[in-house]
Amino acid sequence: MVTQYKNLINGEMVTTGEWLDVVNPANEEVIGQVPACGQGELDKAVAAARAAFKTWKNTPIEERRAAIMAISGAIKENADELYRLLTSEQGKPHDQAKGEIYGAAGMSAAQSTLELAEEITEDSDTRLSRTRRVPVGVVGGIVPWNFPVMMAVQKIAPAMLSGCTIVLKPSPFTPLTTLRIAELIADKVPAGVVNIITGEDDLGPMITAHPDIDKITFTGSTATGKKIMEGASADLKRITLELGGNDASIVMPDADPKKVAEQLFWASFSNAGQICVAAKRTYIHEDIYDELSQAIADYAKNITVGDGAQQGTGVGPIQNKKQYDRVVELISDAKDNGYKFLTGGDVDPSGTGYYVPITILDNPPEDARIVAEEQFGPVMPLMKFSTEEEAIARANASEYGLAGAVWTADTDNGVKIAEQLETGTVWVNEFLHLSPFAPFGGHKQSGFGAEYGTEGLKEFTYPQVITVKKDNVVA
Ligand code: NAD
Repeated sequence: MVTQYKNLINGEMVTTGEWLDVVNPANEEVIGQVPACGQGELDKAVAAARAAFKTWKNTPIEERRAAIMAISGAIKENADELYRLLTSEQGKPHDQAKGEIYGAAGMSAAQSTLELAEEITEDSDTRLSRTRRVPVGVVGGIVPWNFPVMMAVQKIAPAMLSGCTIVLKPSPFTPLTTLRIAELIADKVPAGVVNIITGEDDLGPMITAHPDIDKITFTGSTATGKKIMEGASADLKRITLELGGNDASIVMPDADPKKVAEQLFWASFSNAGQICVAAKRTYIHEDIYDELSQAIADYAKNITVGDGAQQGTGVGPIQNKKQYDRVVELISDAKDNGYKFLTGGDVDPSGTGYYVPITILDNPPEDARIVAEEQFGPVMPLMKFSTEEEAIARANASEYGLAGAVWTADTDNGVKIAEQLETGTVWVNEFLHLSPFAPFGGHKQSGFGAEYGTEGLKEFTYPQVITVKKDNVVA
């Protein structure tokens, strides 16, 4: 008997009676079912969120913080169960799933401490003017399948803190852990403040179009982000779009190949490369190219691709068949064009599970599809460069602008290079680190707006300026 997971609407765990199957990407077995919601359930969830907003927006901030901490605590207390469930639906190895679960608990706890202080914008002889942040109302949150728990929590926590209520839709590929968390928090959060509903992809446009939702916070592909922007224009909903990336690493000639090989590997292959900010293009200076590319390929040979639930697995399967087919197509295109592989490239489509071998390409051209497109899989093209200016220009020659990194012994110069990269986040000598106190967001077609930090929190509010004339001419 497959476990059935319910939705959270107005504080109750409910179902429609119609179910969607959820598959384990490691073995293609159905491991759970979730409700298939349509317009009717969405309307109920939005009505509950709207009703709850009336009191939640006026609930003292300390109570709102406490409710977020209760969610964080529930996640932490049940981490053992949750990370195993996450691996079974998402595919990532147990240690990485554990990282996501504890990360979600930690990030939400940290976000609960953020402040949105009022600002005095004028205090003159004639007037006192203050700017306060007012919650926008009911938020629609739409989440992808690569970090389902982290992405859900990073929308729920700031929405709650700001005084908004939320209707959240997980990806149909990875809804189970989020719904299990919904069950754990149902009695810890006032009814209607957090609603979590599941459905096929067509539930997304219904959320975007819903007249009683005030804002959409979306994480997912650039293609879907464009549709959301179009849909949200009908009633000018506020939108935050966290979209795709084709993030570049630049490795300067003073980097020690022995020290950076392992880090560069994991910058690209954590979560089987399915990270919006994974290093998807790695530019290595020609002086160290041969040594470093070989060191990365050698390191890769010791990493096991397999079921994330098995001990020793470093890289799990691709999360779903559609994405698997896309990555396989990019690898086939690279083969058809005669690009050189340092390792990997041989996919076995006859097996069970969506496995792609760790694939590293040796200096493919800049216009190769596997370089120019976001692969979102365990694929890493290594490219040679000669000058700093050239590396910066090539890194910036992308429609995306999410993240990037510079690897160098000279961190001052690393910062100078970082300042020239056209991305929302740049790391010097690391990758993937995000802070709950710093804004995370993209430039160009990687989206706009931010999550995390006070800037992220402000996205759930609008500024209201109240100006009082000091010489009261009315009295
Ligand atoms: P996706 O765009 O296919 O789906 C994301 C979510 O949108 C899912 O819940 C899906 O059901 C829903 N959806 C689908 N069609 C919709 C529509 N027309 N209207 C509204 N919602 C709709 O993305 P994905 O394949 O789940 O995720 C992978 C992509 O997400 C990659 O491009 C990756 O780079 C990006 N991503 C970005 C970030 C970031 O923070 N910038 C983080 C993680 C993933």
